[in-house]
Amino acid sequence: MNIQKQNFGQMADGTQVDIYTLTRDNGLKIKITNYGGTIVSILAPDRNGIFGQVALGFDNLKQYLEQSPYFGCLIGRYANRIAQGKFTLNGVEYTLAQNDVDRHLHGGLVGFDKVVWQAEELSGDDHVGLLLTYQSVDGEENYPGTLDVTVVYTLTDDNELKIDYTATTNADTVLNLTNHTYFNLAGSGDILGHKLHLNADRFTSVDATLIPTGELHSVKGTPLDFTKPTVIGNRIEQDDEQLKIAGGYDHNWVLNGSGDGLTLAAIVSEPSTGRVMDVYTTEPGIQFYSGNFLDGTLTGPGGVVFNKRTGFCLETQHFPDSPNKPEFPTTVLKPGEVYKQITVYQFSVK
Ligand code: BGC
Repeated sequence: MNIQKQNFGQMADGTQVDIYTLTRDNGLKIKITNYGGTIVSILAPDRNGIFGQVALGFDNLKQYLEQSPYFGCLIGRYANRIAQGKFTLNGVEYTLAQNDVDRHLHGGLVGFDKVVWQAEELSGDDHVGLLLTYQSVDGEENYPGTLDVTVVYTLTDDNELKIDYTATTNADTVLNLTNHTYFNLAGSGDILGHKLHLNADRFTSVDATLIPTGELHSVKGTPLDFTKPTVIGNRIEQDDEQLKIAGGYDHNWVLNGSGDGLTLAAIVSEPSTGRVMDVYTTEPGIQFYSGNFLDGTLTGPGGVVFNKRTGFCLETQHFPDSPNKPEFPTTVLKPGEVYKQITVYQFSVK
């Protein structure tokens, strides 16, 4: 196993950005840049040992700076949507950027995906890793409290990509961290033939603006039922109100057994290549987004076109709009507490 560092370009202010390649012999090869803590590439073998690109990304910093639809990046302070970009904490109302129509999305104008993280290489007998740190100062993007965040990406001998998130604050704040990798286990084409299993009996239904209504809705009898492995494309165009609102799948599922430590959240398999990805998390929710807003205007390495539904995200998280939904698990972090979340993406073949 090894890790190598290369220059990936410069920010407008001259800050150097690097890209790290984490390699497991005969296994995964993952590229991560400290710009946004972004996973740029994941090469994974299929059932015949042939490597394919299973993560959507660009091969240059310029495209990440100018046009990325959150490919592969870390998201913070608050992943997903906050209604009207407003929330009240300890009697004080905070107004955040409305960067998604009238909603706040993925941390605002300059979220954790658009900053340069400090990076340190890690290695051991059975793993290599990248330790990333970032200090988000009090008032950044109008969030309260200075927040110190550490994210460790580890590639293990078991072909796991593990992401450990830790954070502390000096004043009460809200926090919801995730990673926004778009996967395509086929290595090309769309994701409609992938089979998905979600360990979730309920989802947070949304109103017409993709903000949760507050209800934990049963998946039973709906096209959002992935309690058994189901082909993603089978029901995606079904006449269903929730699918119509989102233009496909773009919802938060309530994971069964959350609160029990690291639990199985999802299994995705791709029949033609045999690639399988298992997702484990400590988080209570997972956003399954079927790449509905990709529209073919972006292109990647070798001229690959990022068309609608050529990637899917499985963003482990707390529920959207939790700061305005006291009935949801809390996203408040206080001084003296340590925020922790662990998510594992494990790759195999069958
Ligand atoms: C959201 C989508 C959004 C996408 C941005 C996802 O996490 O759920 O609604 O369009 O991020 O790329």
